[in-house]
This record gives sequence, structure tokens and C-alpha cells, in this order.
Amino acid sequence: MVSIPYDADHSKIPELQHRNFRNDDFWTEIPGWASISRGEFADHRWQTKNSIRKVDQVEKILGKRVSKDFIKDLKEGQHQTPMNIRITPYVFSLIDWDNPIEDPLRKQFLPTGSTFLPDHPMHLVDSLSEDDDSPVPMLTHRYPDKVLFLPTTICPVYCSYCTRSRIIGGSTETLEKETYGANQKKWDDVFEYLTRSPLVEDVVISGGDAYMLTPEQIKYIGENLLRIPHIRRIRLATKGIAVFPQKILTDDAWIKSVADLHKLGKAFGKQVMIHTHFSSPREITKWSQMAMERLFGLGITVRNQAVLQEGVNNHVDAMVKLTRQIGFINIQPYYVYLHDMVPGCEHLRTTLREGVELEKAVRGTTAGFNTPTFVCDLPGGGGKRHVASYEYYDEENGVSVWKAPYVKKEQTFLYFDPLHKLSPEAQKRWGNEGDRKAMIAEAKSRV
Ligand SMILES: *Cc1c(COP(=O)(O)O)cnc(C)c1O
Ligand code: SF4
Repeated sequence: MVSIPYDADHSKIPELQHRNFRNDDFWTEIPGWASISRGEFADHRWQTKNSIRKVDQVEKILGKRVSKDFIKDLKEGQHQTPMNIRITPYVFSLIDWDNPIEDPLRKQFLPTGSTFLPDHPMHLVDSLSEDDDSPVPMLTHRYPDKVLFLPTTICPVYCSYCTRSRIIGGSTETLEKETYGANQKKWDDVFEYLTRSPLVEDVVISGGDAYMLTPEQIKYIGENLLRIPHIRRIRLATKGIAVFPQKILTDDAWIKSVADLHKLGKAFGKQVMIHTHFSSPREITKWSQMAMERLFGLGITVRNQAVLQEGVNNHVDAMVKLTRQIGFINIQPYYVYLHDMVPGCEHLRTTLREGVELEKAVRGTTAGFNTPTFVCDLPGGGGKRHVASYEYYDEENGVSVWKAPYVKKEQTFLYFDPLHKLSPEAQKRWGNEGDRKAMIAEAKSRV
């Protein structure tokens, strides 16, 4: 156990690093924002208005801070990525522009052409089969008592690894999408379906991102759901707290709509919570802490879902710090997901083994209720499973076999490690159609 004298300088003690929150005017290091005051930076309208949506803007705002080669690499990235760019000035200025290639935030939001790898042969556009398990548009009903409702397809930032890249964030050079905005008629169909589905107690409102719903829309959706007698819990899913905490601090109308909904839920004896998405400690600053103080003051519980990613958080130190740091600001770590097998993400995926080892390393570092569960959301719609609960794992070829007895009783499910992490021999086998089929059949036969 570490023993720390009471008058020690906390900022120098590794075990207490998670209590340090960056609070400098970091955005003033970006040439285009050198004169932006703290007050302007705090304004959610300023953040939205100045969000970066094109590589040309990256170049313009950074001036000589980055090399021509890097900009060229970003342009190449745009020819390959399934996701458009959208980044708030807050996240953009947290990127280490002296070394953008290695930066965990840059990796998530600004893909470079040179880092893309060919998709895994078994990748799926709708990896989690959300469309197959959809009884009405915008709704996935896979588990008996909980549903996933996607009322919008826009977000305050676009993650280049989005699991719903098939619908989120508008068409790109490589992908035509049927995005949709708010559509009250379709929402009403969802409420109608849920009214007729007495088993459902729990609704995840995701998307897209609940940050992009107006206060009126939050009220409309929330009240309609809370009014259904058997619905006991709703969660608003937003990456906003991580990538745009200024909205929590200065968009009073939006916060009021969430707080009102929370109050209404309480009056009905029902839960209204927020689920957010911090992936690495680099994303956490004094702004995150201030946003959480406001939400905590309102009595709103916030939980976190992170995605395990190469070079972002697949290291014990990053994962332990993330866990402790979000716990410290009253966010409950909930899940860490193995990366879904969607297109354009091979360079960000990790092996199942890395997930299992990180789960072992993180457990025990803090309170059990503040320890995330590491899960694999099974390709093909088996749902979320604990990473160590696979039935069989051929580590050499990166094939794992899973079951989901309560969700789909008779079916087996497969998850595949990224090819570039396998031995050269195994990679060669994956290049051969016959070997590929044999490896998969062999793994399945073990279960
Ligand atoms: C993740 C998910 C849920 C919610 O699952 P929890 O494990 O309760 O967080 C519900 N429906 C679908 C389709 C999901 O993918
Ligand atoms: S915030 Fe969520 S839905 Fe939006 S782009 Fe990122 S991962 Fe996709």
C-alpha cells in the first residue's frame, strides 16, 4: 500500500494523478483561437459555431503548427473513412498538435490515410444486427425488457469508429447514408409499439446523440416514454459530457429540459439517467469536472461506456487512470467494449486477449461499483457478454466462439481479432478462402 504524508505535493504523486484536472487556457495555443477568452470558450454557441468539419478548416485554424504532410495524410483519410469530420473546438484544442499522429484524441476523430488497414474479412456493416432486431424504424428490441431507441442520427462530434457509421453523420466519399433527423411521426410509432410491449421496462435513447435533441424534443420523447406505465428506466446517451462539457455549463434551456425530465421521473418513481462516453484520461479536464458538478447537483446519475482502442486506452495505466478519474468526478464506469467489427476500424481494434488482460488489471484498483465490466457486443446480435465468458478462443488465428443463452438460445456467435495483430503465418491463412473456412469451422466444432 502507498503511504502519503498529509502535506505532500499531490501533483507529484503518481497514485493521485487522477485528481489533477487540466485548467489552463489550452485553446489559446491554437493559432486561430489565440485571442479567445475563457468566457467565449465556455459559450456552447461559440463551440458549435466553431466546430471543425473539413480538413481545410484544420489547416486554416492551425496554420504552421502542423506539417503539410500531416494535412495531406488527413486528406487521404477522407477518401477512406465512413464518417464525416465534426469536432468541437474543446476537443480539437486538447489534441497534442506537436505530436498529432500519436494523440489518442486525434486517433478517434481525425483519421489519417496512412493508418487505415483493410477491413477484416468477417467485418459487418451492421455489426450488432440492430436493423435485423428492429420491429419498427428507429428501435432495436433484442433483449426482453430493454430497448434501444435511435431518435436522431446526428452528434456534436463524429467518431471515426462509430458503430453506427451506416446511418450516423451523413454521406461521405465512400459511403451513401440514409441519415434522418427528428421525425415525430416515427417517434410516435415507437411509443405505440412500446405501449403494446408490456415486457419493456428500460429504454436507451441513443442515436446519434441526445445532445442534438432540442429541449422541446427531450420533453416530448421523455414524457411520452415516462407515461407508459411499464417503462421504469430511461437513459439519455450522449458523448457530450466528454467532448462538449460547455453545453452542460451554459445551455441552460437544454439542461433545464433534462432536469425537468429527471424530476418528472422521480415523481413517477422512475429513473432518468445519462450514459456518456469518455475513452481516455486525456479527455478529462476541469471542464468535465465542472459539468459533472452541475449534473451531480441536480441529482442526475451519469454512467460511462468506453470503447477499447489501440493507442487510445489499451494500456493498463490509461485504463486505470480513466477508471479512477471518472469515478472521482462522480461518473460510474459501466462498460468497456471490445471494438465492434464495423468497417474502417481495423487499425483501432484490439484482440480479445487484450480485453481480458485489462479487465484483470483494472479490477481491484478502486471500488467494485466503480469498476467497468469489459464486454464484447457479439457480432450478429448476441448482445453484450463479459470478455472472459467466451466458449472457445483460438488465439493463434484470432477466432473466439460465444453463446448468448438468454438472448438467442440455439445460436453461436463469433468475434475475430484484428489480423495485423496475428502471426505472419496466421495472417497468411486468413488470406486463403479455404483456410479461412476451415479455421472458423474448427473453432465452432470445439463448442
Ligand atoms: C446495449 C443495448 C441495450 C442496453 O443494454 P445494457 O446492457 O442494459 O446497457 C439495449 N438494447 C440493445 C439493442 C443494446 O445494444
Ligand atoms: S457519439 Fe456515438 S453515435 Fe455519435 S459518432 Fe460517436 S460513436 Fe457514433
